[in-house]
Amino acid sequence: MAVAASSVIALNSVSIFGDSSDRKFLPTWQWSPSSCRIGSVHTKPCIGLQCRSRRSFASSSTCVRAKRVEQASSEAAQEVEAPVAIVTGASRGIGKAVALALGKAGCKVLVNYVRSSKEAEAVSKEIESYGGQAVTFGGDVLKEANVDAMIKTALDAWGTVDILVNNAGITRDTLLMRMTKLQWQEVIDVNLTGAFLCTQAAAKVMMKKRKAGKIINISSVAGLVGNLGQANYSAAKAGVIGLTKTVAREYASRNINVNAVAPGFIATDMTSKLGGDIEKRILTTIPFGRYGQPAEVAGLVEFLALNPASNYITGQVFTIDGGMVM
Ligand code: NAD
Repeated sequence: MAVAASSVIALNSVSIFGDSSDRKFLPTWQWSPSSCRIGSVHTKPCIGLQCRSRRSFASSSTCVRAKRVEQASSEAAQEVEAPVAIVTGASRGIGKAVALALGKAGCKVLVNYVRSSKEAEAVSKEIESYGGQAVTFGGDVLKEANVDAMIKTALDAWGTVDILVNNAGITRDTLLMRMTKLQWQEVIDVNLTGAFLCTQAAAKVMMKKRKAGKIINISSVAGLVGNLGQANYSAAKAGVIGLTKTVAREYASRNINVNAVAPGFIATDMTSKLGGDIEKRILTTIPFGRYGQPAEVAGLVEFLALNPASNYITGQVFTIDGGMVM
């Protein structure tokens, strides 16, 4: 385990709640019945900013009450903490885009990396430049001690974990007949076992601390339909989907939503290795005729992590592939 560097700057809560354009994540973190309060009194479960609606207050006596409620309500809003997100493999590609999107939306983000400390540190700096908080954490998702230390780092910095994005992944592509056991195992280990270990560790905290949370697993369309030369990767990503559905069932009663995102071909270092000829062939299979961008995947992850409209979604797989698999 190595906490390569940690950089935390004070999050200005006024900048988050002070102006309506900056309330992007606020509705979500009032989504949980347990976090929706007026003063210290729990109201009925409500979604988003609905609990601040004025519509039900009509008469003058109720107007006074409305004012008090509104004041208490805005105090409660100040109490709402920025969600804490962990993104694995966040130094580049899709993970980087996800970390930046969540940071921009007001989350406190733990930026995990395994090798590229400089790049990961740059991601944290960029989040801080938006006025957010970030911690850079070096650790392998495969090693239980690293995973435990990662969760502890988030807890020490911010006291909880609200969102986990299992993004770390690798490929070792070759045809089945040539695939070594090592190539098989490495891919299963990082993509599937890594997601299992991080999910288990984060769910423990989510259950105890807030009794709510969002887990988003980055799978792949290869996990849905297979892909030549990717027996290991397709099996791992299909496994991620099975893991997603099972954890979604096990933790639904704890208000933890677990979903998977299955990208098609996205322009990252992972796909840049494929080479011109293969790329040309791939493009003919994509109705949109182009690779997706990491930011497009990040937008979907951000929706599943923060948008109140995602609160009733669990155990689902969302393909984002320019129409390749339909
Ligand atoms: P990438 O290679 O650019 O990024 C993967 C990241 O995971 C890297 O930062 C890497 O350092 C990190 N990582 C690898 N092993 C790790 C470990 N043991 N512990 C911690 N971090 C580790 O690839 P990407 O395209 O950004 O892929 C991100 C995720 O999206 C992966 O899970 C990948 O399988 C999935 N995906 C990508 C595509 C695509 O076309 N790029 C398509 C479908 C799914």
